[in-house]
Amino acid sequence: FVSVENLCFRYRSQEVIHQLCLEIQKGEILSILGSSGSGKSTVLRLLSGLETPNEGSITVAGQTVADDRHFLPPEKRSIGMVFQDYALFPHMTIRKNIEFGLGTWPKKERKPRAEEMLRLVRMEAYKNRYPHELSGGQQQRIALARALAPKPALLLLDEPFSSLDADLQINIRNELHDIIKQTETTTVFVTHDREDAKAIADRIVTMRDGAAHDWDSICMTTERPVEQKEKALQSL
Ligand code: ATP
Ligand code: MG
Repeated sequence: FVSVENLCFRYRSQEVIHQLCLEIQKGEILSILGSSGSGKSTVLRLLSGLETPNEGSITVAGQTVADDRHFLPPEKRSIGMVFQDYALFPHMTIRKNIEFGLGTWPKKERKPRAEEMLRLVRMEAYKNRYPHELSGGQQQRIALARALAPKPALLLLDEPFSSLDADLQINIRNELHDIIKQTETTTVFVTHDREDAKAIADRIVTMRDGAAHDWDSICMTTERPVEQKEKALQSL
């Protein structure tokens, strides 16, 4: 469903992504596990179109979104994103925050869709509140609901729990897999936390940095049995 081939990306002369290959099946939740600076966020920026690869190609749902001849801008890629800092709009209620992502939907379908998403993340009771009236974990749930609302082809999560305290992290971690699976959304989840990756992913890919400014790439096939997760984790 998603195919990344020989992706290379440089910031000026620093090679951050080196010949990365990834295959992601439809509906799969893939975790990219790697230490700080290994290029995880950069991979998500390349997938979403916020960066242009120097080499290689990205195909999503049969469409080439980036290669040496094509480049589809972010707004045309059908992507939902959740970052570490959940960045809800402070002046909008929770429900309005979710509806905001539905700008291209017919007006009368927006509210029911927002309410459906609020049920999915079990936050219906909070719909008329403002972000500052919610805990960090609750805000993260809303950010997830907002990202999923427009039915994106691909959901990208960049360490969405890193700003939460440990208890909240564990609560959300255990729920996230089920929430995403209910929507059947193909997902890439990046984290430096093995426990996060294990709890959420169908499959884990590790990213390592080799020598200074030289980044290892890992090519994985799509069939990867669960028992191999531990093995992959050990190679980190
Ligand atoms: P973390 O776990 O800390 O979020 P990461 O795996 O997400 O790290 P990236 O943010 O993808 O890592 O960064 C990979 C490398 O690219 C780092 O060496 C970083 O210094 C470099 N880098 C990231 N953004 C830029 C930028 N805008 N300009 C120059 N170099 C950058
Ligand atoms: Mg990062």
